[in-house]
Amino acid sequence: MSKRDYYEILGVEKGAGDDDIKRAYRKLAVKFHPDKNPDDASAEEKFKEATEAYEVLRDGEKRQLYDQYGHAGLGGAGGAGGGGFGGQGMEFDLSDALRAFMRDFGGGGFGDMFGETGRGRGRSGRGRDLQIKVKLTLEEIAAGAKKKIKLKKLVKCDTCSGSGAAAGREAVTCDACSGQGQVRRVQRTLLGQFVNVVVCSQCNGDGSVVRDPCKDCNGTGTVRGERTVEVSIPAGVASGNYLTLKGQGDAGERDAPNGDVYVVVEEAQHKLYDRHGDDLLLDLPVSMSDLALGTKIEVPTIDGRVSLKIPPGTQSHKIFRMRGKGLPRLHGRGAGDQLVRVIAWTAQKLSSDEKRLLEQLREQQKSTVPGPGRGVYG
Ligand SMILES: [Zn+2]
Ligand SMILES: [Zn+2]
Repeated sequence: MSKRDYYEILGVEKGAGDDDIKRAYRKLAVKFHPDKNPDDASAEEKFKEATEAYEVLRDGEKRQLYDQYGHAGLGGAGGAGGGGFGGQGMEFDLSDALRAFMRDFGGGGFGDMFGETGRGRGRSGRGRDLQIKVKLTLEEIAAGAKKKIKLKKLVKCDTCSGSGAAAGREAVTCDACSGQGQVRRVQRTLLGQFVNVVVCSQCNGDGSVVRDPCKDCNGTGTVRGERTVEVSIPAGVASGNYLTLKGQGDAGERDAPNGDVYVVVEEAQHKLYDRHGDDLLLDLPVSMSDLALGTKIEVPTIDGRVSLKIPPGTQSHKIFRMRGKGLPRLHGRGAGDQLVRVIAWTAQKLSSDEKRLLEQLREQQKSTVPGPGRGVYG
């Protein structure tokens, strides 16, 4: 399934400013918000789609990637969309979309995020998502790589085991919501009047409060720490692809869910190759005489040297395709090709012998060189 253009979804110009994007999204989000369109799957889809577009275009870095590479730039292998190489990608679920909407346009008014439908995350205090970059060489990309990454993040407080309560003192049931974590409230909103279920402000949705907080974490249940995670990166990834490590982000407050970690691939420039999708392009200087007479040359590939046959009469800039010698296809079969572009190499210092031979050759070839024009490289 091909994904729609984010600008088209929001109905804004490509160069639209942040305010225009926000306004356009708000309009769509209000129109298709699930609370306004209960049990309407297509409205829910549109709400999610608009939110996804908004989440990319509001973020300078993501927007730049998208402008440059389209959906593929955000991690869609081969431009098919659908996100990171972990198969998660930009596709987020309804609760993510609702959360994004809440974040920028305030909560409460659209209610039921924390209600009986069970689609919400249920409570606040979820740990932050973290994004880390991992730089890979082409060799690592060709072979796949395991990387250990040190993460500075919030971790569960050992002293209170994440409960936030001082030793021997339990958290007690919140009296404002009787432990429900939510309260019902009649509210006027731009959509009209609602009876809303909103997060209890006294306990932030936890249903319990800490009267005597743990000294080490001030009752949050989390402290600064460091953890090492190991990620397996499949062969064939490209810059911008990412992997989601569920629950490896900042610890949630007082047993709220942890955030996720997005591991974003960055590709280091290789000293020999230019990458074109799964193909690798290599420039190879070859002497005029080898091009004219033909020869065999050992050329490097991403996994070892391979002999390349140069037939007699090869023109400069001809590209030879070495099938299957490129990068493996991400989650696919086979591999791309290595393209070898031969470039006629001209000696810059000549011995007197060489000079004499070349002068003879010049005399011989005078009438055989084609005139100027396109397609003179064979
Ligand atoms: Zn603690
Ligand atoms: Zn409460």
